[in-house]
Amino acid sequence: MTAPTDGEPRPLWRRRTPNARYDVVIVGSGGHGLATAYYLAAHHGITNVAVLERGWLAGGNMARNTCIIRSNYLVDASAGIYEHALRLWEGLEDELDYPMQVSQRGVLNLAHTTHDVRESVRRVNANQLNGIDSHWLTTDEVAKLVPILDTSAELRHPVLGATYQPRAGIARHDHVAWALAHAADRLGVHLIEDCEVTGFQRDGDRVIGVHTSQGPIGADRVGLCAAGHTSVLASTLGLRLPLQSHPLQALVSELLEPVLDTVVMSNTVHVYVSQVDKGELVLGAGIDAYNGYGQRGSFPIIGNQISAAVALFPIFARAHLLRTWGGIVDISPDASPIISLTPFQGLYLNAGWGTGGFKATPGAGAVFADTIAHDRPHPLAVPYTLDRFRTGALIDEHGAAAVAH
Ligand SMILES: Cc1cc2nc3c(=O)[nH]c(=O)nc-3n(C[C@H](O)[C@H](O)[C@H](O)COP(=O)(O)OP(=O)(O)OC[C@H]3O[C@@H](n4cnc5c(N)ncnc54)[C@H](O)[C@@H]3O)c2cc1C
Repeated sequence: MTAPTDGEPRPLWRRRTPNARYDVVIVGSGGHGLATAYYLAAHHGITNVAVLERGWLAGGNMARNTCIIRSNYLVDASAGIYEHALRLWEGLEDELDYPMQVSQRGVLNLAHTTHDVRESVRRVNANQLNGIDSHWLTTDEVAKLVPILDTSAELRHPVLGATYQPRAGIARHDHVAWALAHAADRLGVHLIEDCEVTGFQRDGDRVIGVHTSQGPIGADRVGLCAAGHTSVLASTLGLRLPLQSHPLQALVSELLEPVLDTVVMSNTVHVYVSQVDKGELVLGAGIDAYNGYGQRGSFPIIGNQISAAVALFPIFARAHLLRTWGGIVDISPDASPIISLTPFQGLYLNAGWGTGGFKATPGAGAVFADTIAHDRPHPLAVPYTLDRFRTGALIDEHGAAAVAH
């Protein structure tokens, strides 16, 4: 990958062979691993850092998501971290000096039943109390904003209104990864691809390094950002994490003329859609129900997703499907992430972002870097500790995560 701005092409990050030891090793070069490494170097002056990636840089969920960013979550803890992330998104292109097509085009979440309406209005109220720009729109207001949406009253799932967050939107995921990688590399972070972490070096209950496909690497601190594979890695230490890995699919249409300039989501009919600048409609839905580590899913999910999209947007019936793909998402019992110290000194956990971790990328990275640098949870991470599954202090965002986003 080369830098886009100057005349002379040059790599955005350098190829490295691993050193024998680092201050911090991050496992996984998705958005979260890259952002953590960047903030460790940029905010905490910790530059002797390696990011180890079993495949190619940002080829996991970071390459496969549907790019939606928003912060209108119900629970205070979620509003805290996702709004922190959204504020960072708003300055990230300038901070990293790299275009990422951050587009605050607004996100609507449709309500189709009286229960939806009650829940949506409750969420708008909670958001407003947390200082988040969230509004309730009537059916007429929704129709004005999205004229191609079928808002007729006789539909099986009529649109009874929607929540609307104007500052939400989308960002170009591959550019985000390249920008973070470029910035981290410039600060001296080693980005090492084709380097699978297979286990941990230990001194009693302290983790002192990792075993990898490129040999052992020592580290004072190790941060796990391996998404669906985090539980596999933790199990090599006998640490059983409350995470399940599921396939999650998405699809794009052929290139079309601009017809949709905002993001529309519906939990009830189970689909969401945006149209990216080059013209593709990007559609996503819910997870495949079974556990799996294959980056592909089952056909019925795609079929239902397309039926749902056509029910909401009849003109999509004429669009052709271009391609589908899948990622592996790590889901916790309360549909909220884990950002935590672990029973092992020197081992830190950033996982469980499930269907919604892209939007958190800068916020998760900043909070996780701070947690690792100071060996205590960042204030926004306090509710997200592993311990909550023992104490029962869960952060129940199932409503917010019913549809992948
Ligand atoms: C189809 C789909 C649509 C989505 N849409 C959205 C959306 O619109 N908005 C949103 O907010 N979120 C969305 N998500 C979720 C989002 O993509 C993830 O939550 C987020 O990317 C997680 O980031 P990450 O860095 O933790 O994971 P990843 O990008 O998956 O990074 C983990 C990395 O760890 C590497 N790794 C694993 N095991 C090892 C090992 N043993 N050694 C070394 N490296 C290892 C992997 O190869 C991978 O590169 C979507 C996900 C999918 C699959």
